[in-house]
Amino acid sequence: MHQRRLTDAERGLLSPGLVAALDAAGAAPVIVPRAAWLARLTWLWRGHVPILTRGHKIYWPGAPQDFSSRPAAMAVLQHELQHVLDFSTGRLSALGYLLNPRNWTYRLPEIWDWNTLGAEQRAVLAEKLWRAERDGGEELDACRSIIPWVADCGLASPRDDLHQGGQTRRI
Ligand SMILES: [Zn+2]
Repeated sequence: MHQRRLTDAERGLLSPGLVAALDAAGAAPVIVPRAAWLARLTWLWRGHVPILTRGHKIYWPGAPQDFSSRPAAMAVLQHELQHVLDFSTGRLSALGYLLNPRNWTYRLPEIWDWNTLGAEQRAVLAEKLWRAERDGGEELDACRSIIPWVADCGLASPRDDLHQGGQTRRI
């Protein structure tokens, strides 16, 4: 199997704001269907070869040519794409990830503040949003209100629409 870009079906299923943010950042995510060397190394003590993202490359052992028919994998894909976005916008570097232990925490704090969350926490929220968009649930509004790229995809609140409408009229 060869490395590949996202398929149209995958792009269509991801949260629209994330796709828009990736495009705006000029990110061209690539899925590499094998383990990264770092993941192979950690296999020695972790016992499994994890999915690992560095820059725009998502190393995903055994990744198929399309994830769109696999909801569980799509949620993980959205998680990894948050990392790609962070790398693209300069918020995250491979060294920065390793040097800041806050980046390794997957557990979310009591109060979600996008600016103070670590890399994995941001990715966990992106993944949560994908699930909540399908299952509904009380976390949907919380996810939408905290993830900045959600606002880029036409999900802005009616008040924002009104505000923008007002500006348009003034012009
Ligand atoms: Zn992650």
